[in-house]
Amino acid sequence: MKNEDVFKSYESQARTYCRSFPASYDVAHGSFIYDSDGVEYLDMLSGAGALNYGHNHTEIKNTVINYMQRNGVLMSLDLYTEAKRDFIVTFNKYILAPRNLSYKIQFTSPTGTSVVESAVKLARKVTGRHNVICFTNGFHGMSGTSLSLTGNRSKRQAVSQGGVTRLPYDGYLGKDYDSIAFYRKLFMDSSSGVDLPAAIILETVQGEGGVNVASIEWLQGIRQLANDFGIKLIIDDIQAGVGRTGTFFSFEHANIQPDLVCLSKSIGGIGFPMAILLIKPDIDVWSPGEDNGTFRGNNLAFIASTKMLELFWHDKTFEQELSDKETIIRNAFDKVLVSCEEYIKESRGRGLFQGLEFYDEILAVAVAKKCFENKIIIETCGERDHVLKFMPALNIPSHLLEESMERICKIIVSVCNDFKLCSAEHTLIAEEA
Ligand SMILES: *Cc1c(COP(=O)(O)O)cnc(C)c1O
Repeated sequence: MKNEDVFKSYESQARTYCRSFPASYDVAHGSFIYDSDGVEYLDMLSGAGALNYGHNHTEIKNTVINYMQRNGVLMSLDLYTEAKRDFIVTFNKYILAPRNLSYKIQFTSPTGTSVVESAVKLARKVTGRHNVICFTNGFHGMSGTSLSLTGNRSKRQAVSQGGVTRLPYDGYLGKDYDSIAFYRKLFMDSSSGVDLPAAIILETVQGEGGVNVASIEWLQGIRQLANDFGIKLIIDDIQAGVGRTGTFFSFEHANIQPDLVCLSKSIGGIGFPMAILLIKPDIDVWSPGEDNGTFRGNNLAFIASTKMLELFWHDKTFEQELSDKETIIRNAFDKVLVSCEEYIKESRGRGLFQGLEFYDEILAVAVAKKCFENKIIIETCGERDHVLKFMPALNIPSHLLEESMERICKIIVSVCNDFKLCSAEHTLIAEEA
């Protein structure tokens, strides 16, 4: 059987990314992934944010190999292990303490959607309320509660639709619309039809929803609103966290402290499944085993995560590098925005979480397709797939990032020019007819 026939014959129709990037991959290192023929692909998808530190980071990988060589405990439910202790100590030392943050760490089941479930469940328990506020274009996962919080109409399912109120995200109704005042009114007015919520859950940069960036004022307004009405603020930092937006947490720049923080995707260091819920100590009111799961003790992920924290977050150097790399992307965007101004509406993002919004999704999708023909893996997002999403590994060398941006922007310009030619021909044909 040809390589891909196996998947087509036996793997469920639910498969998705493999349809956009059809090759069979075998080895990978850093920003590159290679198919079975050794063809090299540049990875601008980074496991949708689960590979912030690239593929097979040499030092992280060696730490993992050594741990396995000495028969380190792999699976341990939630037993105490040295690997878990090292992770907790390191996370406090390099991440929480320097940011003056104090959180208890809950190890939930190791996927994003599970940590969201746990966060919402805990907020409901603490407040004794049921309703949860979520936002247009939000994405929080595909299991029960998470799936009813997700915005996308084709993905959302009313698993527990009761108890969810969706409100317009920052900018959804236009830049000048005072959405905080609107939410406040809904909470003040006992006949607004909106029950006071247990929690507000949000992404500071909406990943699947189109790289929509919340403003500092909006985030601070939300924090204030939550304080005023006794609502727990949950930041879903599953995609935007662990360095993606230029700081470890995506909310640092807004100077706010959430009550609950969801981390998954890249917290596993090298792509291992892991998720943690950060809980303000005073609301850690679980009773033992009340929120359970078999795979909460993935020690390989703890080992990899600890190494990642030590390598990248022991001082401020890495954040400076991220800021320099953001500039590289922005400079490339500035040029392509000039060349393709009729076709690209805007660029937006924070850190190495960046997007280009096209007016017409046909162009965004065509660019992603042509990139793949040129051995670049990059995806589209947003409600119409009209946003090209740039997610390089955070530790991509600057020269490679520059070169990659040049390659992609060249493809964008050529796709836009082809489109222009094509529509000019159509006009001519239409005029002649
Ligand atoms: C990916 C993602 C999730 C879901 O994570 P899974 O591991 O796929 O369950 C939740 N929230 C955000 C913001 C995400 O990007």
